[in-house]
Amino acid sequence: MAAGADGAANVVEVFSSIQGEGPWVGASTLFVRLGQCDLRCRWCDSPGTWLPADEARIERGRGSGKFEAMANPLSVPAVVAACEALDLEAHRFVAITGGEPLLQAAAVRALALALGGRGPRIFLETHGLAEAGLREVIDRVDVVSMDWKLASDVRRESDPRHGSAIAPFHEAHERFLRVAHAGADVTVKLVVTPASEDAEIDEAATRIAGVDPGIPVILQPVTPVGAVRERPSAERMLALEARLARRLGDVRVIPQTHPIWGAR
Ligand code: SF4
Repeated sequence: MAAGADGAANVVEVFSSIQGEGPWVGASTLFVRLGQCDLRCRWCDSPGTWLPADEARIERGRGSGKFEAMANPLSVPAVVAACEALDLEAHRFVAITGGEPLLQAAAVRALALALGGRGPRIFLETHGLAEAGLREVIDRVDVVSMDWKLASDVRRESDPRHGSAIAPFHEAHERFLRVAHAGADVTVKLVVTPASEDAEIDEAATRIAGVDPGIPVILQPVTPVGAVRERPSAERMLALEARLARRLGDVRVIPQTHPIWGAR
C-alpha cells in the first residue's frame, strides 16, 4: 500500500500531549505527525520529518511515553485505532501535523473524515503554502494553524542554500490564507529570529490585514535549535508587536512552551 493510496499515510508518530504553541497552548491534543516536508527552515525542530519515515512511532498508553514501531504506510483504520487507544475523545484537538501534512492531502482528508465529529476539533498545522492540498481538505478541518514563512530563514527543499536570495513566500501565503479563512478558524504564526527583517514582517502584516485584520497573528520568538543559536530580544519582540498592532487587531507574542518542561 503506497502512502496516499486509499488514504494510506506515511506517519512519523502518534502521541498524546498538550499543545505547546499558539493561541491554544495548554489544550490537550492528540498529535498525528505525517512524514515529508518540502521546506528547510533554519530553525526546524523536527528534521526527522523531512523525509518519509520507514516506521511510525505509536504511543501505547496516554502519557506513557512508551512507543511501538509500525511499518509505513499506515492505513487510516490503523491510525484511527492508535488514536482510540490513546483516549481520542478525551482531547480538545486532534492535530494533524508534520512535516508538511498537505503533501499527503488525501490521507489528511481521510483522517479528518474518520476522526472528525467525535469531540476533538480537527486542527491542521501547516507551512501554509500547499494551496491545492488545502482545497482538498478544508471542508473537513475545524482549525488551520498556518505559518507565514520569512525568506530570511526558510528555503525550499529544492534550493536549501541559506544565504542566497530567494523569492519570498508572501503571494502563496496570501492565496492559502484566503482559502483557509473562508473555510475554517485560522491563525497565522510568524517565527521571528535575529535574522528576521522588518520589511518582510511588514509585508506579511499588510497582506494578512488585507484578508481580515481580525485574524489572530502569533509572533513566536524562535526556540534556538538547528542552525539558529539565539533568540530575538524581548525588546525586539515588543517592538514588533506594537508595529503589527497598528494594522492587525489580534497580535500576540507567544513562545513555545513544550521545550521548557521537556514535553513533546
Ligand atoms: S515547514 Fe515545518 S517541518 Fe518543514 S522544515 Fe519548516 S519547520 Fe521543519
